Amino acid sequence: MPEIVRTTCPYCGVGCGVIAARLDDSAQWVVRGDPEHPANFGRLCVKGSSLAETLDLDGRLLHPMIGEQTVAWEPALDLVAEKFTAAIAEHGPDSVAFYVSGQLLTEDYYVANKLMKGFIGSGNIDTNSRLCMSSTVAGHVRAFGSDTVPGCYEDLDLADLVVLVGSNTAWCHPVAFQRILAAKARRPDMRIVVVDPRRTATAECADLHLAIRPGTDAILFNGLLAHLRGEEAQVEVGVPLEQIVQFFSWFAETEKTVTVWSQGINQSSSGTDKVDAIINCHLQTGRIGRPGMGPFSLTGQPNAMGGREVGGLANMLAAHMGFDEANVDRVGRFWASERVAAKPGLKAVDMFKAVAESKIKALWVMCTNPAVSMPEADLVRAAIAACPFVVVSECEADTDTARLAHVRLPALTWGEKEGTVTNSERRISRQRPFLPTPGEAKGDWWIMAQVAQRMGFGEAFAWTDTGAIFDEFCRLTAFENHGARDLDLSGLVGADYESIEPIQWPVREPGKGTARLFADGRFYHPDGKARMVDTPPRPPARATDEAFPLILNTGRMRDQWHTMTRTGRAARLAAHAPEPVLQVHPRDAIRFRLADGGLAKVSGRRASVVLRIAFDNGQRPGEVFAPIHWNDRTSSGAVVGTLIDAATDPVSGQPELKQAPVMVEPL
Ligand code: SF4
Repeated sequence: MPEIVRTTCPYCGVGCGVIAARLDDSAQWVVRGDPEHPANFGRLCVKGSSLAETLDLDGRLLHPMIGEQTVAWEPALDLVAEKFTAAIAEHGPDSVAFYVSGQLLTEDYYVANKLMKGFIGSGNIDTNSRLCMSSTVAGHVRAFGSDTVPGCYEDLDLADLVVLVGSNTAWCHPVAFQRILAAKARRPDMRIVVVDPRRTATAECADLHLAIRPGTDAILFNGLLAHLRGEEAQVEVGVPLEQIVQFFSWFAETEKTVTVWSQGINQSSSGTDKVDAIINCHLQTGRIGRPGMGPFSLTGQPNAMGGREVGGLANMLAAHMGFDEANVDRVGRFWASERVAAKPGLKAVDMFKAVAESKIKALWVMCTNPAVSMPEADLVRAAIAACPFVVVSECEADTDTARLAHVRLPALTWGEKEGTVTNSERRISRQRPFLPTPGEAKGDWWIMAQVAQRMGFGEAFAWTDTGAIFDEFCRLTAFENHGARDLDLSGLVGADYESIEPIQWPVREPGKGTARLFADGRFYHPDGKARMVDTPPRPPARATDEAFPLILNTGRMRDQWHTMTRTGRAARLAAHAPEPVLQVHPRDAIRFRLADGGLAKVSGRRASVVLRIAFDNGQRPGEVFAPIHWNDRTSSGAVVGTLIDAATDPVSGQPELKQAPVMVEPL
């Protein structure tokens, strides 16, 4: 009999179900899409279907390390607990920080949040999801009174109009895009509109592509709102008027409309307003929470949503509760702690500024690589290097951030660790292990619980498995909730963890998830109503000028993931794009004397990188595009994060990773 394990893909927020299988006498695992998982019904994209090629142990961190010395767990954990305790004793709880990841499982995230906010007593835990979808969180909270995605993937099957804004869905959420294309194949009258400055693979499939000027999304959707209200509006977004008229007319006449957005909206210094400008149009038309319609954020990472749920963002306390007095008191009673943080902590960009200013004395980075992925990555790298004490929990031995750590702790990774994730449609799915534990690696939750016990918080961190952590989290969501919050998992309290089937929260009764919310017109503001938020358009924080005349846009490639620590292991994934290139419109190539295939120096205000040039008619003249994946460890060494200023959205704190003025010169 073959051995079969049902789990979930570790890459994007589509959250596809995966089956890992092998025959008894085989060492080789094969990975297939899970036909019964409602997120993908058996489909996988090229990244997901290559997972079996990424399971080798080359380059893995297999033992705790203090400096370059391999040590046992005891001294490593003792040292971490001792250093954090000493920093807190000398400088207070806000002198320490955790920077975590949307790739952690919900149980890991829960423990990290409980330790920092519940027992250390600081809000200083933030996540790389800040870079990904925090503007959506803030936009949801302003509009709905809660961070709630109203709809589900089935709406993509049912919609008559799908508007994709700032989202190269075909590459970044491929299985969701396949679902849209399948719906279009079944119902050719269904329309797809893509709003994106670039002519991406997604835009190639659109009935209408609005290649708007970067940063003008709020102008477009404010104009649409005015049109829906029968008012006049000036909509100068850099595309012909007839395209605007066509889009507005389709939106106005199509009841079943879903507007999907992703990082092109979120990664902006006015991202929260852009999110609310979109939501306004759905509130105005009442197209929300009903089959085939609604505003729909696609999250980038596999468990960005799970992190939002437990409090992984510095501005949320736990279980979708904020830092008001009643919630601090409530969470304190649930955790039996009198130390619960009473105020939000530092958001990612501010956290690393505090590290640079020596305000953070001990930093713990888990499952992420900020020395590459943060804006002003060079400054972040220098800040981490100068921090008095840095811990990195990682599955990889040699990431750019791990190199800067005083202590490296070996963590389990996909296929080895156990827990839950939540995808873009609020669906909680199990990740299950099928591989043996390599070396001395441990689950992130176990590592943190061990440190917490050494810091004197033993009883509250005495779980023996992830099922017990999940159950505690479910009980917290139900604790004194009485329908006051959207996130309610009371129906999962006491559930058989091993056999939990994919289910969408809220889960108020056993086995009963919730596909859609808000169709009844009740939201989570105290008066039960939604809010139409005023969203006056603002230009990007950094404008081009004579010295930096081009706008750099950044994003993902089809076959790579983040800083390539996993996808970089699969040779066939490299074939699609073996090295990073700077995509340039041929007119700009003439203007800046660039040759197709030639090398060029790409300079931001503080740093420069070398990239190969690729001519691309899909760019708007004046704009160039570079992928985010490559870094110091790869042969390229081109860290595009060094070109991007750390300008952030004032509400969400999300950095403007999509918009940096640069100069490009031939080498
Ligand atoms: Fe994995 Fe996303 Fe591809 Fe699905 S679409 S297989 S979740 S990377």
